[in-house]
Amino acid sequence: MIFEQVSINNIIAEYEQTRLTNRGLEHQRRQEIYNKFPEIDELTTSTTKSYVASILSRLEGGSHTLSQTPEETSTLNHERAKRIKQILVDNGYPEDYLEPIYTCKLCQDTGYVDGQRCSCFLDKLINKFYLQSNLNNIWEKENFANFDTGFYSKEKQPDQEFSPYDNIMSVLERSKDFVESFSEKSSHRGNILIYGEVGLGKTFLTNCIAKAVLDKGHQVLYLSANELFQCVLSPYLMNQEKSLADLYKYVYNCELLIIDDLGTELTNSFVTSNLFEIINQRNLQGKSTVISTNLGLKDLKDRYSERIMSRVIESYTVFNIYGENIRYQKRFK
Ligand SMILES: [Zn+2]
Repeated sequence: MIFEQVSINNIIAEYEQTRLTNRGLEHQRRQEIYNKFPEIDELTTSTTKSYVASILSRLEGGSHTLSQTPEETSTLNHERAKRIKQILVDNGYPEDYLEPIYTCKLCQDTGYVDGQRCSCFLDKLINKFYLQSNLNNIWEKENFANFDTGFYSKEKQPDQEFSPYDNIMSVLERSKDFVESFSEKSSHRGNILIYGEVGLGKTFLTNCIAKAVLDKGHQVLYLSANELFQCVLSPYLMNQEKSLADLYKYVYNCELLIIDDLGTELTNSFVTSNLFEIINQRNLQGKSTVISTNLGLKDLKDRYSERIMSRVIESYTVFNIYGENIRYQKRFK
């Protein structure tokens, strides 16, 4: 099972490494600046000394050892900090050059904010998931630049409104428009249902979309219907593996969810009610979903209920891909 390999410990170790690297970097920066600007070194030393003095005085239970009141110390330290920033800026450094460095400012590289997992934790989890499911390799090959329209006939059959070629060109165009909508700060980018028989490039197309949206810096969760219903949503596995709870939330929250091969899972009432919930909730939150399936529209309705299909029809752009089986063509050409 893919998710059982997801190692939370690896992620925790990554955070540790990040913190260590950043502390090293801070140290280097301090050395560099203290050497270059002895005044900053002095100012920092004075600040440290006054802190130490105030702590010592508190420990001794009186302020008689201090030459300044706490207010005076605080004002003085504030002025020193200001002076340090001024020297940095005057010499072309950012004013926060000596501040602590955090790769993720939200959780300060701990992975947690107020006891909850930070969004960067989730990203790491998803990343691990991608690496494990090997999608990274697939996307090197299956992307818009490599989509071969040569497999789609330019001859229109009597029952077809457009030739398979004209149809796929239009589908590609509109798929790219969909990807393009991720550049805008739009609250709702729409959804796509891709249906058609086996071997017509539906999964290839969903991979193209996934890669392109991911390249735009958006979160994409790509799951086959099997993985979605049998792993991520499985109540049994959810009890076994805590990281699944995060992925479960991600099914509802990620910017783009792709459900590949709907209809190949073992469909039952659990699947149907969850599918409705996912489609409905994601619509309400303005999150985009792409679904691909070998089933026709009528089969979808029969299998998943009228309720689901009417939701899909009213809120999804529907692409029908038709033509001659590509795998078959490849084998015989
Ligand atoms: Zn974080």
